[in-house]
Amino acid sequence: MELEGKIALVTGGGRGIGRELCLALARGGAAVAVNYSGSEAAALETARLIEGLGGRAITVRADVSDFAACEAMFAAVEETLGAPDILLNNAGITRDNLLLRMSPQDFSDVLGVNLTGAFHCLKLASRAMIKKRWGRIVNIASVVGLIGNAGQANYAASKAGVIALTKSAARELAGRGVTVNAIAPGFIETDMTTGLSDAVREQMLGGIPQKRLGAPSDIAAAAVFLCSGGAAYITGQVLAVDGGMTMGG
Ligand code: NAP
Repeated sequence: MELEGKIALVTGGGRGIGRELCLALARGGAAVAVNYSGSEAAALETARLIEGLGGRAITVRADVSDFAACEAMFAAVEETLGAPDILLNNAGITRDNLLLRMSPQDFSDVLGVNLTGAFHCLKLASRAMIKKRWGRIVNIASVVGLIGNAGQANYAASKAGVIALTKSAARELAGRGVTVNAIAPGFIETDMTTGLSDAVREQMLGGIPQKRLGAPSDIAAAAVFLCSGGAAYITGQVLAVDGGMTMGG
């Protein structure tokens, strides 16, 4: 129970990778605030699963791209659980299209949730972490933020931004007992990837040395490690959890 007594906030914690992040933190002993924007039933189910493990959880609605909504979310979490010691910026969306067909709205929507949303929560979480002189922030980026991807200029740019945000925040907060790291998942089995055609799937598998897609639990294990005492001297890093996809890249 390495995280006993800690309070965690996971954005987009209702489903996909986010749910697994919440469950893994709860198994470590943390009380978890499960954020969602539209999927209330899924968030309630995540909280129920945590309670089934004997843990403590609340759900809290906020669209992370909206700063006022994030302020209200942090106030609600502080009032019920206390100020978060751990922040997992996981909320993310895709609006894929080739550059010529990508609308400015699709570009800014993706940047708004994936990058600006992460900034909003990081900013709001860091004050209390600085005061406590302890904090762990893990931002969920993507391998495409490292290597790019045709049809995902908006998403790749947002994730490259998340990586730069991670390194800048890590430098600012390093002397205050707060670590900031990013995880760059490869292709993980969630709603985000189920819609891919067999042809695209085959092509993707060809680029993965381990020849399989990852599971949300692969990401959660890495995140819990980065939140643990054993990771105290690790900050500003990008950990690719991708079956070997980007090694040496
Ligand atoms: P997913 O199954 O589509 O889930 C996305 C999550 O983000 C949902 O919980 C959703 O909650 C939340 N979300 C979306 N917009 C939000 C907003 N405006 N405010 C708050 N929450 C919002 O995706 P996933 O695969 O689990 O992805 C989780 C993270 O991993 C994302 O950052 C994604 O970019 C990253 N990632 C995924 C993969 C992959 O292969 N799956 C690879 C690399 C990186 P609501 O339904 O309540 O809106």
